[in-house]
Amino acid sequence: MTREADFLPSVIKTTAGRAGYRCSIPTCDRITIGPGNKEDQTSSIGTCCHIYSSAPNGPRGTGGLTDNQRASASNAFWACQIHGKLIDNNEGGKYPAPLLQSYKAMHEARITNEMGGLTAPRGWFGKIEVRKAPHFQTPAELDLGKVTFIEGSCGSGKTALCEFIAGIGDPSLLWRWLPDRATDSSLELLLTYYAPERIIAGVHATSDGSISYSIDGSEVPAQPYPLRIVLLPHFEAENYAEDDDVAFISQVLGIHDSHVLNLLESANRLGAGGVHNLRIENDSSGRRLRGDLSGTLSGLMYGAWSGSERSRVLIALAIARAEFCSKYSPTLLILDGGIATLDDGNLESYIELLASPNFTFQSILTLNRDRSCLPWTGWTCVQLAEGETGALITQKNIC
Ligand SMILES: [Zn+2]
Repeated sequence: MTREADFLPSVIKTTAGRAGYRCSIPTCDRITIGPGNKEDQTSSIGTCCHIYSSAPNGPRGTGGLTDNQRASASNAFWACQIHGKLIDNNEGGKYPAPLLQSYKAMHEARITNEMGGLTAPRGWFGKIEVRKAPHFQTPAELDLGKVTFIEGSCGSGKTALCEFIAGIGDPSLLWRWLPDRATDSSLELLLTYYAPERIIAGVHATSDGSISYSIDGSEVPAQPYPLRIVLLPHFEAENYAEDDDVAFISQVLGIHDSHVLNLLESANRLGAGGVHNLRIENDSSGRRLRGDLSGTLSGLMYGAWSGSERSRVLIALAIARAEFCSKYSPTLLILDGGIATLDDGNLESYIELLASPNFTFQSILTLNRDRSCLPWTGWTCVQLAEGETGALITQKNIC
């Protein structure tokens, strides 16, 4: 029986091709096509799965999509036969649509890289578990997508949560969230990571200044996996009063001056957020950054842009840094700063870009208001709310 939202052979071929005929589940990546029994035959173990179901009562439901939309390549997911069955078990509960969209985007990004002769490291930041943290209701979990929003009002703990996560790679970020030594408190986090086998990396910092690490529950001297977490920390975009633009930007990004200079070319090549032609000029007081931003006069100086425009430049540099890191290590980009100053149009273009196959890194963006009006392109969302016993972390269902 053919259903209205079944895939046409052309859609199946496109989906398989975009996946490089490999299973799109990050822990699998199995090749799904190979030699058949006879010399003129191939053998396939691939299957083209629906992200939203072909039938209204199927796993994951229809997501409000029409029959045509559900029969299109954008709703198709390439998997091996084993995962093709697994993702539909229990009404698809273990594989919600946003997760499949995220896996698909990440997989296509890897295939795009491999076509260019680059072997991107395989890895997926799956879940963060906050076991203990001052001012948070614990334990709490958040699942990460290719793009994850952390949504909450001012003071709800977004910056703390971002720095906890970044602290898995850089423990110096954890100390400021621990009260002084007189108070017995600790911060304990677990990251579930797929490389492609599942690894649970733990970090435990205490207010007496000690820090310990674990892998799958066993203590280790340090975090041994080459994971990169690039953080654009919270900053006040309006607080710009520096003589030297490069010194100011390097301080915000937490990187050396020379790294800022080296990133300009990559940022110009990527053009993220309509940022182009960034360049440095020296004047009597210091180094000045100039550039062309879409929607503004070309060649303005950093100090002449608005807070939102300056944020676009910093975000472009952070994206360029994550793109570079992701060529060598699995990378998570955390954009805590600057996002709040963007209008919906700019924010939409960043989400589309970060979710696209152009990048093999995952991203976290903090939002200070509900943006559920934004088009859904495979992001997941975590909400933060103030509770009586501390900040409450909840995963938001999107469909
Ligand atoms: Zn598979």
